[in-house]
Amino acid sequence: MKLDVNVLRYLSKDDFRVLTAVEMGMRNHEIVPCELIDRIARLKHGGTYKVLKNLLKHKLVHHDSSKYDGFRLTYLGYDFLAIKTLVNRGIFNGVGRQIGVGKESDIFEVVKEDGTVLAMKLHRLGRVSFRAVKSKRDYLRHRSSYNWLYLSRLAALKEFAFMKALEEHGFPVPQAVDCNRHCVIMSLVPGYPLNSDCRTYKNGHNSVQVRELQNPDVVFETIIAAVIRLAEHGLIHCDFNEFNIMIDDDEKVTIIDFPQMVSVSHPNAQMYFDRDVECIYKFFAKRYNMSFEENENDSDGLEVEIDEVGRPQFSEINKNSGFLDKELAASGFTRKDQDELEKVQSRTRQATKENGKKFYLLSWQVDFVGNKHFLFLLCYSLLCLQLIEGELEKQSDSDDEGTADE
Ligand code: ADP
Ligand code: MG
Repeated sequence: MKLDVNVLRYLSKDDFRVLTAVEMGMRNHEIVPCELIDRIARLKHGGTYKVLKNLLKHKLVHHDSSKYDGFRLTYLGYDFLAIKTLVNRGIFNGVGRQIGVGKESDIFEVVKEDGTVLAMKLHRLGRVSFRAVKSKRDYLRHRSSYNWLYLSRLAALKEFAFMKALEEHGFPVPQAVDCNRHCVIMSLVPGYPLNSDCRTYKNGHNSVQVRELQNPDVVFETIIAAVIRLAEHGLIHCDFNEFNIMIDDDEKVTIIDFPQMVSVSHPNAQMYFDRDVECIYKFFAKRYNMSFEENENDSDGLEVEIDEVGRPQFSEINKNSGFLDKELAASGFTRKDQDELEKVQSRTRQATKENGKKFYLLSWQVDFVGNKHFLFLLCYSLLCLQLIEGELEKQSDSDDEGTADE
């Protein structure tokens, strides 16, 4: 989605009043009736409908007249409300280029008055299609659609709270600056995600390789030590992989992306922890040919018990861990918020996986059809079928003739 902040400049006070009225109406309505928007906005000189038309033109609201005449906010409308609030607070005063597109977020550079560049993450839950998920009906049993804006706000609130707490406990995370609605402002991490650390470009006849880790062993150890320390503090990242670990030119590690974190007391904590660890082991094994099985019972610089396949043991870490999870539980991000967010996050993971599977199947089919042996086999089978059909027809003709004769 394009975030054209220039529109922001041309929006009047009344435009923002009406946009805010739509947002307020959405607390109780999926689609806010026009009369209610008018009543909440209470424009001095009237004209709510005209303003709504202008907002619609800029795609800040969506019009729905299926049940009654009403509007709801779009993500763009929600973006503008958050950006305006943060600009008014003096957090930044300009929006720059887009620097990242996540599964369910857009990341932009924003600039402060003194020229400092920060990162702005706009959460966009609901972007991953749920069509593939069988349990969708279940999930939406009591509602015709889900309030993605509300869930995105929860994700941002959680991400901000967790980032702040982690930073205070000395974890290598971006500095949490501020949060409003579905938007989190944090320090800009120099560098690039670990997954893009090594690229081979064809430059004419030469292949040029850039960005390869100089000390993969050290980086690996730092990352695994961080995931262990996190668990010792009572938390599991739950999406700990090469896409959510940033590396700078000095190979300093920064962990990002926290909306899915859980406490070590979560019923699936063991599975989440093992999955996080496995992702990192797999990545380093594949990209840097690192071998771990050989290091059996040798903690390889890590001060933690490892299992028979050389992985840190969650049960050992969990024995004396946990306080940050309890601290965060008291941070305003309630148990109910956590449950609601988690429900949708697990659906999203499932949808991503199922969409991924479908794509894999499709590409496999395309590959298979593209295979010349397969094509030859197909032609041959069709030919055989035609021959058999011809024979059968001949036979039934002669049968018919036989019956007619009788
Ligand atoms: P998602 O939850 O959608 O995966 P992420 O928080 O992982 O979103 O961000 C997506 C991408 O945006 C990252 O891979 C990274 O390239 C970029 N990014 C995110 N946060 C920052 C930051 N603070 N500084 C620099 N780049 C960032
Ligand atoms: Mg991410």
